[in-house]
Amino acid sequence: MSNIQFHAGGLAIEVRGLKVTLGDTQVLRGVDFHVPKGRIVALIGPNGSGKTTLLRCLLGLQTPGAGEIRLFGEKLCPALLRRVGYVPQRLSLDRSFVLSVREFLALKLRETRGWFWQPHRVTDAAMKATLEEFDVVRLLDRPIAGLSGGQLQRVLIAFSLLGNPELLLLDEPTAGVDTPGEHSFYELITEVHRRHRLTVVLVSHDLSMVFRHASRVYALNGVICCEGTPEEVMSADSLKQAYGIHVTPYHHDHSPGHQHLHVQ
Ligand code: ADP
Repeated sequence: MSNIQFHAGGLAIEVRGLKVTLGDTQVLRGVDFHVPKGRIVALIGPNGSGKTTLLRCLLGLQTPGAGEIRLFGEKLCPALLRRVGYVPQRLSLDRSFVLSVREFLALKLRETRGWFWQPHRVTDAAMKATLEEFDVVRLLDRPIAGLSGGQLQRVLIAFSLLGNPELLLLDEPTAGVDTPGEHSFYELITEVHRRHRLTVVLVSHDLSMVFRHASRVYALNGVICCEGTPEEVMSADSLKQAYGIHVTPYHHDHSPGHQHLHVQ
């Protein structure tokens, strides 16, 4: 079956032969990564396997040494990036960082000059649907540096969706969020995916969450060493290929009735 038939709806991401060397390390050694439109997919791999580097390439922040990136069928260029939302791994904010949540979110509206200085009701009206969707209305006057991990996560998702992206990239989105927060985060993303009909790429270590929410999984270790349905990639051989012989999946309990599968 040809790729075109297989991806009848088209591809959101098409990466071919991507190579990146950082310092002395060839971090990406020829990555081929194809993501059909409208799916939630997961990118997994051990620490240092190049997940963040691949996302940085997709966001135009890292220039590859070789290879090609196409988004929505077009060669990567700055104009295309307006169609991409990104939620970073973490945002290190100094306690003295003075922006309120409203001011932070309004930065996303910068393309309409003057928004930032409008009265609150004008800014809030422009963001209303997103603010309500992510329950951040009551956080608007709070300093962004004073939010909890879970609250900050919701604000970052709201920020990334204000531009109505067609593709959402989430880098290890639950790092630093406790388990109940993590659980609702993935449910939130599933809801976002359903409502906005986005393509979502989740980078995560938590395989059980990934397998519950993603329809396709890609295991990276310098190259994409296996891809397929969660069940296919979950097979011991595939994981061994991705994570190496020193690493095995293990189960442990976070709370009663809550099994999580992680990899080290
Ligand atoms: P992951 O997100 O899978 O943990 P990264 O893409 O962050 O992996 O990093 C891949 C590898 O690249 C790591 O070994 C990391 O140490 C290395 N690396 C990242 N940034 C740099 C840099 N600026 N210079 C040299 N090596 C780097």
